[in-house]
Amino acid sequence: SKINVALIFGGKSGEHEVSLLSAASICKHINRDKYNVFTIGITKEGRWMFYDGNEENIKNGSWVDLANQNVEINLIPSGNKEVGLKFEDGRVEKIDVLFPVLHGPYGEDGTIQGLFEISQIPYVGCGVLASSVGMDKLICKKVFSQIGLPQVDYTYTNRWEFNTNKDQELNNIEEKLNYPIFVKPANLGSSVGISKATNREELLVGIEEALKYDSRIVLEKGINAREIEVAVIGNEEVKASIAGEIKPAKDFYDYEDKYINGASTYDIPANIKTEDMEDIRRMAIEAFKGIDGKGLSRVDFFIDKDSGEIFINEINTLPGFTNISMYPKMWEATGLEYPKLIDRLIGLALDSKK
Ligand code: ATP
Ligand code: MG
Ligand code: MG
Ligand code: MG
Repeated sequence: SKINVALIFGGKSGEHEVSLLSAASICKHINRDKYNVFTIGITKEGRWMFYDGNEENIKNGSWVDLANQNVEINLIPSGNKEVGLKFEDGRVEKIDVLFPVLHGPYGEDGTIQGLFEISQIPYVGCGVLASSVGMDKLICKKVFSQIGLPQVDYTYTNRWEFNTNKDQELNNIEEKLNYPIFVKPANLGSSVGISKATNREELLVGIEEALKYDSRIVLEKGINAREIEVAVIGNEEVKASIAGEIKPAKDFYDYEDKYINGASTYDIPANIKTEDMEDIRRMAIEAFKGIDGKGLSRVDFFIDKDSGEIFINEINTLPGFTNISMYPKMWEATGLEYPKLIDRLIGLALDSKK
């Protein structure tokens, strides 16, 4: 009999739209002979709704108006209720595996994974700890440096400290880092809220913008970087794909470039030295294991164009998952096609002991 998969998409994060694209793509390519797919959307306000319809409407956002609000989504084992989806006619569909196709806060940060643990239903991807560490750029940097992975210089500020004395906080940052400085909300992705400051004025504006998304801000030394990414898969036995290189169309790889214009290009495999390729693949696995990763992650690196040094930038525990996203593309180039990749990730969820 078929396996019941619940795809959960949308969500309250700044990456809601990206999630719609990832989910639509999975819906389109998942093997329907093996899986029954139930799609559950989360609105930007955080309401969960069962949506039974085509992927076009997921992509364009109209699923919100078409959702069936009478289907009960029971994820908490309680009383004599069955965990699963309860339809209007009383039928309950058990969920065999949950697939969070969500990016950013509330989806990629361990919160929903905590709910899944409570539900006792297996789920795709990292657990609570890896998800929350991976999402938090500040904590993640501490873990990476503890396991000896090279990173660019950085510092941080937070809303309270910054608003208490902006001038002093800007002075502190300028003392630690030279321009250009990258300003990032600690918890987000898809380059939302990220900017590159080349002077104090831009630094001020950048921090104020980033503070709209998070109360903690990471500031990094901006380097002249080649951008290399690696896809990782596995629970105990972890494998890294061939690395790819992103070539942003603009100054840096921003939201528009990632999802709107798509003007950036890429090379898979990345055209880098064999030893750099090996180092990067090894470090990707170390990073994944270092945060207690399970299932999947995409690990992003920089190679400094001036010095040739390699730096780890970040780990994304639920990376973009459209069929043209880097994670699936790098697997495709490594010999694992998109539908098989989906199958593999669900398989890992079903046999993992989290
Ligand atoms: P993702 O969508 O990969 O989760 P994100 O929002 O977590 O993205 P980062 O990957 O940290 O953000 O940064 C976004 C982009 O900004 C990078 O791909 C790169 O182009 C640029 N960038 C970030 N940090 C630096 C840096 N220290 N030096 C140079 N460029 C940087
Ligand atoms: Mg990221
Ligand atoms: Mg991300
Ligand atoms: Mg990134």
